[in-house]
Amino acid sequence: MRLALPRWTPGSYLLREYVAHLEGLSASQAEHSLKLERLSPFHWQLEGLEPGEPLEISYALQATELTVRTCHLSAEHGFLALAAVVLELEGERWSPHRLHVQLPPTWQGFVPLPQRDDGSWLAADFDQLIDSPLEAGPHPSHSFAVAGVPHRWVSWGGDLPAEDSDWLADVTQVCQACCRLMGVDAPAATSYLFVLHLNEQGYGGLEHDASTVLQFGRRTLKQPDGRRRLLQLVAHEYLHQWNVRRLRPAELAPIDYQQAVVVPTLWFAEGVTSYVDQLLPHAAGCCQASDVLADLERDLSRYLLSQGRFVQSLQASSEEAWVKLYRPHPHAANQQVSYYLKGAVLALVLDLHLRRHGSWIGAVLQHLWRSHGRTTRGYQQADLLAAFALHAADLADLLPRWLNSTDDPPLEALLADVGLKLVPVRANGPSLGWTLEHRPAADLWIARVERDGPAQQAGLQVGDELLALDGERLRCPEDWNLLAGHCSANCQGQPRELLICRDGLLQTLRLQPQPPAIERWTLDIDPDAPVEASGRRQAWLMLQP
Ligand SMILES: [Zn+2]
Repeated sequence: MRLALPRWTPGSYLLREYVAHLEGLSASQAEHSLKLERLSPFHWQLEGLEPGEPLEISYALQATELTVRTCHLSAEHGFLALAAVVLELEGERWSPHRLHVQLPPTWQGFVPLPQRDDGSWLAADFDQLIDSPLEAGPHPSHSFAVAGVPHRWVSWGGDLPAEDSDWLADVTQVCQACCRLMGVDAPAATSYLFVLHLNEQGYGGLEHDASTVLQFGRRTLKQPDGRRRLLQLVAHEYLHQWNVRRLRPAELAPIDYQQAVVVPTLWFAEGVTSYVDQLLPHAAGCCQASDVLADLERDLSRYLLSQGRFVQSLQASSEEAWVKLYRPHPHAANQQVSYYLKGAVLALVLDLHLRRHGSWIGAVLQHLWRSHGRTTRGYQQADLLAAFALHAADLADLLPRWLNSTDDPPLEALLADVGLKLVPVRANGPSLGWTLEHRPAADLWIARVERDGPAQQAGLQVGDELLALDGERLRCPEDWNLLAGHCSANCQGQPRELLICRDGLLQTLRLQPQPPAIERWTLDIDPDAPVEASGRRQAWLMLQP
């Protein structure tokens, strides 16, 4: 018999090598220990197995990382992402699995699986077990229903429904808006569990068939837009019970836990979900249209400032997820564009384009749900392209180009349809093309260098320590602003002499500042837009045809 620990968890496309947290693996039958031969770092073969005898496998796990996809155990709670915990036994993938946990007397376990009288949970197979996070602790749970389907809410790190009595009512509204978007009367799951971890400043979510685990910052929640952002995260993960879990890429059916599988359609799974998650709380009546426009303005600015979008297409971003998006480094912004961010921009473009043809993004989602989602048969990229082309024939040609090109899709022309325009806002100071930070070992060092910007042209690199500007000592980013002076939109400024330290050696470089660059865009309602544009904008923001 062979056994293996998953290397990743579905929904998060990075080989996490969970085996790094495993200690003291042993196997025995009737108190005789068995030999385990390691076939690879995460894969073993059991020798001398007696057929018919119960087999006991034991090991310990380090549970010290609080994210939605790792394990965390403290005196206050326990959280297990079961992909990091449960060994897959060869040949037992499709057998039922039973889960027992022993907990302190005041704790209870929350698992999105049917619970038996003896307190254990039963999963139909290994996949369903891995798809079931386990939260445990003395926390209260709160029950509510969406279209008659039972839902539970469990928070750790702060009791959200108790601190905000309208919270569960708003979550219910958002869940119902997700059902309306998918054109269904009730959620796809027959019961649903929300687990929320509130911590100092985290953010993240992981989708499952019948549950989600959310991480959110307590301080962010106290900010004016914090509650809306958490409702967007709720909408995002809840919508995934359709888009990506049941309406799933063919490459993930079935899931291979031992290898990185290229999923060319992540732009759809995450991009469309990220786009509609901003509109869903508004469609649910939980925020204002101006809030949605402010969120779109922020994300469109982020996209239009991204240098990596000229290097990596959306298609490449989806295919390279395993090696790029989840591995941040100082050069990432110059090299890559997130399939969440550009995928959401493309989804906006597709929604507005479909509206020109009398359709909308919801109609395509509902179409795909009927053709591929209900039967969970898995879709290929060609199925997505065909579905979009069925609702707007010219997308058969346009969509592959938008996916494979590094050119921007026609954002401004489509925003004009709903009476909106993007207006650039320039920075106050000259453009230098770098990001400076304080560092304990150096007063001032370069944390990021923009592709083709003034700093890169001067030969500056990430990690360079800045010592002096034109002979005067530099110690903090404010010193730079003081010494370099101001520069208007049409002024080039004089070249500046920089003394730097790189790898212990001093160097002098000449930096030519450039006129102030655009630092963001505002998304404004165009007063000159035709009257019909306002009606189109209202329907679009409400996720209505
Ligand atoms: Zn997602």
